[in-house]
Amino acid sequence: MANPSARLLEGAPIADEIRAAVAEDVISFKNTNGRPPGLAVVIVGRDAPSTVYLERILRGCAKVGIKAEFVELEGEATERTVVSAIRQLNADPTVDGVIVQMPLPPTIRLREVVDAIDPAKDIDGIHPLNAGLLRLGYDGFLPATAHAAVEILRRSGIEIAGRDAVVIGRSAVVGMPAAFLLVREDATVTVCHSRTRDLAAQIRRADIVIVAAGHPGLVRGADLKPGAVVVDVGINVVDGRIVGDVDFGSAVEVASAITPVPGGVGPLTNALLLTHLVRAAERQATDRRIAATKLEPTAALQGDR
Ligand code: NAP
Repeated sequence: MANPSARLLEGAPIADEIRAAVAEDVISFKNTNGRPPGLAVVIVGRDAPSTVYLERILRGCAKVGIKAEFVELEGEATERTVVSAIRQLNADPTVDGVIVQMPLPPTIRLREVVDAIDPAKDIDGIHPLNAGLLRLGYDGFLPATAHAAVEILRRSGIEIAGRDAVVIGRSAVVGMPAAFLLVREDATVTVCHSRTRDLAAQIRRADIVIVAAGHPGLVRGADLKPGAVVVDVGINVVDGRIVGDVDFGSAVEVASAITPVPGGVGPLTNALLLTHLVRAAERQATDRRIAATKLEPTAALQGDR
């Protein structure tokens, strides 16, 4: 039976709120530091979908006063060229955050590129140091998509603590960090993947389902517990349309709340990335101030030794 009360968890209004706060933080950063926070996006070869995504990042930054630059390398760029471009950005004090557009060409090893990013500028939380900090519950940089998947629940007032959550997908950038964030919010979490034996049975137990598999129609209404909350991270193109991993038509009749695709997690991801950038800029500026004002031990203290 149709459930007219299923609530649509839309990302855009939350993203607008976040961007308004970021715009204020950017003004205050500029007043203190005499320049806006700076983002650099490393792009290796350009294809049509990434062009759309990148232009969206550029517009998002311009709206809140962040300076964004693209560092474009030819599609045939070598691993060494990419790593060297990242190192230059690491050393540039006007660049506060570095992201690398994925996927990289198959000739370039992801690990080499990820390891080259300064963890202090790794605003999409892909460096192993930031992944480790998240795992241990410290305050590093979170992967923006996983952050958005959990933040949309928090900001929509969905109760997470004590609830059974199933995360479908175990990638380093979405599934696993989303699972760790849910644990941090005191949910009881099961992580499913392509080798999970009975996915439907796992989904049926869940109060909260986050799906990030890249598999359209993977979560159906018939598999959901009535009243479950569903966060659809998937982005798939089917017959020229963008759809998620959830069969929205059947799921909306069973769920109590559900994110649409497009318009759910996506807009929030971009807005949160801006908050990460401002935080990176503030932290680095503070570190530089501390380094610049470090005093030599006074004569009296030296005499005490
Ligand atoms: P990924 O690296 O390909 O990982 C997919 C995960 O899903 C893997 O862990 C895989 O299991 C699991 N999986 C695949 N098919 C499955 C099935 N039939 N049953 C259960 N698990 C299955 O992808 P990703 O980078 O995490 O991205 C996931 C989705 O999110 C994609 O659709 C991507 O486009 C989307 N995405 C959205 C945003 C956003 O802003 N909304 C941002 C990034 C990505 P194994 O580990 O066993 O292979």
